[in-house]
Amino acid sequence: MAAEALVRGGAQVDVYDAMPSVARKFLLAGKGGLNLTHSEPFTAFLSRYRVRAGALAPMLGAFGPDALRAWVHDLGIATFIGTSGRVFPSGMKAAPLLRAWLHRLRASGVHFHVRHCWRGWDRSGALRLDTPQGERFVRPDAVVLALGGASWARLGSDGAWVGVLAARGVPVAPLQPANCGFEAQWSEHFRERFAGQPVKSVEATFIDPRSTRWRQQGEFVVNRYGVEGSLIYALSAQLRDAIAATGEARIELDLKPGWSLERLASELAKPRGGRSLANHLRARAGIEGVKAGLLRELASREDLAHSARLAAAIKTLTLRLVAPRPIDEAISSAGGIRFEALDERLMIRSLPGVFCAGEMLDWEAPTGGYLLTACLASGRAAGLGAVAWLEESG
Ligand SMILES: Cc1cc2nc3c(=O)[nH]c(=O)nc-3n(C[C@H](O)[C@H](O)[C@H](O)COP(=O)(O)OP(=O)(O)OC[C@H]3O[C@@H](n4cnc5c(N)ncnc54)[C@H](O)[C@@H]3O)c2cc1C
Repeated sequence: MAAEALVRGGAQVDVYDAMPSVARKFLLAGKGGLNLTHSEPFTAFLSRYRVRAGALAPMLGAFGPDALRAWVHDLGIATFIGTSGRVFPSGMKAAPLLRAWLHRLRASGVHFHVRHCWRGWDRSGALRLDTPQGERFVRPDAVVLALGGASWARLGSDGAWVGVLAARGVPVAPLQPANCGFEAQWSEHFRERFAGQPVKSVEATFIDPRSTRWRQQGEFVVNRYGVEGSLIYALSAQLRDAIAATGEARIELDLKPGWSLERLASELAKPRGGRSLANHLRARAGIEGVKAGLLRELASREDLAHSARLAAAIKTLTLRLVAPRPIDEAISSAGGIRFEALDERLMIRSLPGVFCAGEMLDWEAPTGGYLLTACLASGRAAGLGAVAWLEESG
């Protein structure tokens, strides 16, 4: 996006990427359907960026969900709004969009240089680039850094830039996992039996250390180490911060969100006859499979033995999470270059002519298209900022 803004602004643009091809994470995002943005009203959309909504507002105001969709359409790719308001390209693939985009960029004069890994600056201020042919030095009039966060390092964004910029005195908030899974202490039996299974239609409530209550309905997946999936990702910033502060995060699961406690209790109070607890739960409340497994794993013996307590356990089952999974496995990362270090054009104040964009900035957002929208909007803003700066500095 920065390259597009710069080349349209009349600059000669070279893109350097460490990997053998560009946009590998963008392509991977396409495997999950490439959720480009979200169609909810703009105020709600902006609120997803929580404490960084204010910092991102100018960029998202200039290039928000509608502008993003128009930009995709302009590349010859149709979009559609899925259930829950998420926006996808037709075909739900990243490759056709990327192909059209790269073609347009090349046609407008942008040069791509792959296997060029940026290592910082030499003493004279030139960019140091490691290439298969050895070190290369280039001295552009302006630079836009868009080096990503630190998740899925094998796709190219490894966060190595943090050390380079920190050494130049640029304030960087530590990179942390966002939209990530969490570890739970499953019994061996539960793990062997249920790892890999989705838990559908549950409601999770989390009360953070400041007593703010977060509630989210959705689904998650039990895996060998704990839990992951959209419901968990949606709460992951709050869960991660709570674990950092207190060593754990307890979420309360409602395994039967459509039913009141009274209805559940009255169904479960009906005589069991000769039925096992498993059959009784299935017949009376439709609780079976992994949900029944979670109940046995997390509820006490006493809860399982009394119908009223059993109903209460189904409505408020406590799951204790002890650690976020490593950043390399996360969908995205939190932390990055602090906005205080940047001017309104996304130029690093202490490094004139160096602009930054994308996930390497200090913001985070849930899944739902918010990540790509803010990356593209900030890329465009940094590119336009660089054009303006180049014009001013002659
Ligand atoms: C599995 C998965 C699915 C996702 N799905 C979605 C989705 O559906 N919707 C959504 O909104 N978001 C999604 N995301 C998140 C989204 O892909 C990222 O937020 C986005 O790609 C970040 O863009 P970026 O340009 O800031 O960084 P990146 O896409 O990470 O690109 C950074 C680039 O910089 C290069 N680089 C890094 N360091 C150097 C260096 N030193 N020298 C040279 N080059 C370097 C890398 O090779 C890379 O090409 C998903 C992420 C993952 C992992």
